[in-house]
Amino acid sequence: MDEPVGNESITFSQESFHYLWNLMAGQPTETENCLMEAPLFDEEDLFEEPTIPAPQAPCHSSDSGSSLTSTVPSTTDYPGSLNFSLKFQQSSTAKSVTCTYSPELNKLFCQLAKTCPVQMVVEQAPPPGALLRAVAVYKKSKDVADVVRRCPHHERTTENNEGPAPAGHLVRVEGNNQARYLADNHTGRHSVLVPYEPPQVGSDITTVLFNYMCNSSCMGGMNRRPILTIITLETQEGQLLGRRSFEVRVCACPGRDRKNEEENLRKNEEKSKPAPGTKRTVKEAGLPVQRPEDSKKSCPGGEEEVFTLQVRGKERFEILKKINDGLELSDLVPAADAERYRQKPPAKSTKKEKDGPGVPKKGKRLLVKEEKSDSD
Ligand SMILES: [Zn+2]
Repeated sequence: MDEPVGNESITFSQESFHYLWNLMAGQPTETENCLMEAPLFDEEDLFEEPTIPAPQAPCHSSDSGSSLTSTVPSTTDYPGSLNFSLKFQQSSTAKSVTCTYSPELNKLFCQLAKTCPVQMVVEQAPPPGALLRAVAVYKKSKDVADVVRRCPHHERTTENNEGPAPAGHLVRVEGNNQARYLADNHTGRHSVLVPYEPPQVGSDITTVLFNYMCNSSCMGGMNRRPILTIITLETQEGQLLGRRSFEVRVCACPGRDRKNEEENLRKNEEKSKPAPGTKRTVKEAGLPVQRPEDSKKSCPGGEEEVFTLQVRGKERFEILKKINDGLELSDLVPAADAERYRQKPPAKSTKKEKDGPGVPKKGKRLLVKEEKSDSD
């Protein structure tokens, strides 16, 4: 946080950015740059607001002129002249389901790294060389400027990082060795591109298998912020032929969460309607929507369920937030690492002399801070 480098990059003026950009552009370029990951940030940067990505040499590949070059990608459906649309396999809200789509919510619920088939439909064949691109964006306008990327924990573990996909990319395509992973030069946004394949004989759909490589709740990553996946069909030159989008939640119990959200939606719709006065409606609206204890028992990842707590007073809120942040962090740290931290407190904490030398444990320090917190 107190790294001067980070602050500088935030306060870059437009002029200095362009100056650096042009400086870079004048230098010999490597074509590999097109396929390279977004510039690597150090750990602290990952928890910060996004900084302006380091200027990279412009890269005249199929990426130029694409839908990604705008700072905020459009999420508006655009069927285009080919009448591009998406279809999802019908799936239930059973507890065992690993990927399920809700047509009512236009939302895909899936587990981390599990296969999510998305079917692409066009009425006429696109020109040869056409591409399908998937990019994830945050749904809420306050988050939309942030690049959706994996959390530092999942980016660094060896598990699920064996393949060719860059470790920081949230969205992957499974079972397609022609998939290309790009980081946009201007925006830093990640996308994955696959060649459009015409449907097989007797079929009218092309299926692409996606994987989402973090939970929606991942700290330092999505951090409970809802995301949309935008699928675009583009010509080889990057001209837009069609666009569709859907919301995604990556969670431990997709079936249960879909069911709950659909019930909530119906409940809200009934609330906003003038009551028709039938007994059935009144009864349904009064039903408790969630029974956390039941679902926790039946679902191994029951802790994924999100509860909202209303807290009176900023001070209390900050205290409870600290406790919750601590719990979230401890979820992220593998058991073996947690043991190491306990044995040997990280060197950084010794910098904080004001806490006094006699507070070696993290938990203790938290308590001391809480007592002081009224002054700040
Ligand atoms: Zn993660």
